[in-house]
Amino acid sequence: MMIIMLGAPGTGKGTVASILSEKMGIPQISTGDIFRKHIKENTELGILAESYISKGQLVPDEVTIDLVKSRLEEPDAQKGAILDGFPRTVKQAEDLERILKEKQTKLDIVINLTTPEDEIIERIENRRVCPNCKANYNVKLSPPQREGICDKCGHELVKRKDDNAETIKSRLEIYFKQTSPLVDFYNKKGNLRTEEVSERINRFGKDVAEEIIKDVLK
Ligand code: AMP
Repeated sequence: MMIIMLGAPGTGKGTVASILSEKMGIPQISTGDIFRKHIKENTELGILAESYISKGQLVPDEVTIDLVKSRLEEPDAQKGAILDGFPRTVKQAEDLERILKEKQTKLDIVINLTTPEDEIIERIENRRVCPNCKANYNVKLSPPQREGICDKCGHELVKRKDDNAETIKSRLEIYFKQTSPLVDFYNKKGNLRTEEVSERINRFGKDVAEEIIKDVLK
């Protein structure tokens, strides 16, 4: 099963992807998480990626595509994967098509999450992440049981460096300019499933994930 998570930052892609990954037994491949790991380890790729991520810009396509291509070659991804945050440009989507064709794999579903913009900004401001197990929390909507501590692994939670007001503005602009055309791209191919995630309608990532699992296992 090959699934893509599409949507602006802060819509809940990571939350949905991690539930699907656990229930379906296929890896969640988050390009953002891979870049953050490289930044932490101070690798050459990390240094390059940080120069873009800290400004809220996209890491260049060639670098990102190579990274995903080799990640998809690893043994755990042979039964499928959930791509979380990739593709983010039309070039990445076209190259992914080529990569999947070479692997004789088809794309099953593209899950497009939408959230009102004011809610997105608030959600990103309130987001805390576990640098160890990657669990996500929202200090208002889904706080951990013990303040600042991950429920799953007990590690201290952090606020992502790029989750600040200035960078969020640029990430949203880039989303609308470079990533949102992918909604149309995949809609034309017929495998797009759009889901609203919003506090206003009391619908969150976990609700979307549950519905998808129900449909897939049907
Ligand atoms: P995320 O964790 O998905 O919000 O990604 C954090 C940052 O990593 C983004 O704002 C980009 O700078 C970079 N990034 C993640 N995925 C990609 C991608 N597919 N293409 C380019 N840059 C990416």
